[in-house]
Amino acid sequence: MNNKSMTDNTLSRLEKRACPFCMSMRQDTLVMLTMSQLFPVNPTLDQSWFNEKTIPPGFELPIVRCSECSFVYSLYKMKDHVALSYYNEAILAEKSKEKIYKKAKRRSLISLWQQLHLLSEDKDTLKVLDFGAGWGDFLAIAKSPGVEVHGLEFDERKIHFSKAQGVRSGGIDFIKDNAPYDIFMCNQVLEHLDRPGDALKQIRSFLAKNAVGFVAVPNFSDDVLEKHIGALYKGKVEKNLHPLEHLNYFTPFSFRQMIFKAGFKEVAGDGFKAASKKSSKNSRFPGFFNMFKAKKQPTGESTNIFVTISAAHKLKRNN
Ligand SMILES: [Zn+2]
Repeated sequence: MNNKSMTDNTLSRLEKRACPFCMSMRQDTLVMLTMSQLFPVNPTLDQSWFNEKTIPPGFELPIVRCSECSFVYSLYKMKDHVALSYYNEAILAEKSKEKIYKKAKRRSLISLWQQLHLLSEDKDTLKVLDFGAGWGDFLAIAKSPGVEVHGLEFDERKIHFSKAQGVRSGGIDFIKDNAPYDIFMCNQVLEHLDRPGDALKQIRSFLAKNAVGFVAVPNFSDDVLEKHIGALYKGKVEKNLHPLEHLNYFTPFSFRQMIFKAGFKEVAGDGFKAASKKSSKNSRFPGFFNMFKAKKQPTGESTNIFVTISAAHKLKRNN
């Protein structure tokens, strides 16, 4: 097989994306990355998955900047059947599961749950949604008398593991059937999705009046991005520059814009420190960690949920 037909074959398993923010098709390439560059910094990847029949390890994947709105994104996404194979076979489950046993990770989830619980309404029964529940570790912490938990998850291994912890997870229909939710979580998920704005609108449609939630993505502010791209030229790869998994590279501004556009407002509350420039610089690779409160308008209105940010706080990423 020559190089051209190999490229054509690989491209047939990928889909070119429009800017997820403004849908423009015009973009400039910021950097090209191959998966083999990422192997040394991503030990959860099963390198044997990558070949001419999937994504060749040397195939160059562009990360681009939208010419219209400047949003940074991965130009290609895997077609659904390839993505399913990737998430089920290219990621080593045991390595990924190891993270949930880390004390720091558990502590951050306990703290998150505590804050969300504090911000939620006083009800006898609270329903919690984790949109991207993974191994069910957050929901297992939240689960208690009067607290019903439901996770969105597609990986059978993770669904099975969650079930053994008393946490039920499933697809969109499962989530829809158990709506509305009083508390939601969407932690390190939006950067993986082709249409993150639509996902936020979908979450909003599942929420009860006065629901409160937490949304977090990795921080790709211009200076962070500049630093990582600069390091690339010196041969140093940042593991979060990952064109197959991380499709969207949010700045604090674009992150908020997308959330507000989906009908949420940041909640300004008591007892929580607002994320400051200083605090986010203290973390090597900070995420945005923000609480969002949702309020439903009379039914029939298109933007039927406001979010009020009562709390923005910083937690260190552990992965
Ligand atoms: Zn754009």
